[in-house]
Amino acid sequence: MSRPKVAFFDFTSCEGCQLTVVDTLQTHPELLDAVEIVQFREAMTEKGEDYQIAFVEGSCARKSDEERLARIRQQAQIVVALGACAHLGGINAIRNRLPLEAVVNCVYNENGDWSETHPYGRPRLSDRLINVEPTAKPIEAIITVDAILPGCPIDREEFARVTRQLLQGSQPRVPDYPLCVECKFKENVCLFQRGQVCLGPVIRAGCGAICPTYGESCEGCRGPISNPNMDSMQSVLAEAGLTADDLLSRFSMFGTYQMMKLE
Ligand code: SF4
Ligand code: SF4
Ligand code: SF4
Repeated sequence: MSRPKVAFFDFTSCEGCQLTVVDTLQTHPELLDAVEIVQFREAMTEKGEDYQIAFVEGSCARKSDEERLARIRQQAQIVVALGACAHLGGINAIRNRLPLEAVVNCVYNENGDWSETHPYGRPRLSDRLINVEPTAKPIEAIITVDAILPGCPIDREEFARVTRQLLQGSQPRVPDYPLCVECKFKENVCLFQRGQVCLGPVIRAGCGAICPTYGESCEGCRGPISNPNMDSMQSVLAEAGLTADDLLSRFSMFGTYQMMKLE
């Protein structure tokens, strides 16, 4: 019996989610037996173009990305957004608030055109930036997405579970309730009581509330739940003597694209 063909693609990303997939496949070899991976730049050289399931990591940040995403969508029966960059726009979208030149100066400073003298003769940075879009976007801004794997990086066990559900033909489900639920199960002292700002009341659970468990507040890498209780969030902030601005500056780490859409 032929196995479903799967491909992995990377767009603007750090490739940490793909590395998490490689890691997961070592502890879940049954997934490797169940599918045929035809393209996965992080792990193999072959580049098969015949696939049914496409996992897409990274945000859409260049003009050529839109065309490439459209081609993937046309080929794949199922497209999964792999990680916060693909799902939300993520960290890449922080640059949407600034002109591209300001971002380049911030990152490269006076070395903005460093590659002009690069020994391998690569094009100057300014030439390469011609293809860059002013806005980094989640892939859902360009194509229809059938499932998400949230997080920065994705959660290993969630990847295994969602992949199994896809192979069984069921719609994968990721938690759509607040992170605070998991945090309470861990019996953590709420970070608001320690004067910290935490996005837990409005962010999607599923990571086991790992950041608050280690004393760091949630920055929202799994994205907002579909029905956040903003009234309740505001009461929590008011009790802690904080304002919505305190929350928004934290939300901008992964949620700049969503915030700018609301402005
Ligand atoms: S979501 Fe995080 S870990 Fe995954 S590719 Fe983006 S930056 Fe890297
Ligand atoms: S620390 Fe954060 S996640 Fe935990 S209960 Fe408080 S607000 Fe919720
Ligand atoms: S606690 Fe928040 S920031 Fe940390 S992994 Fe979970 S969703 Fe992401």
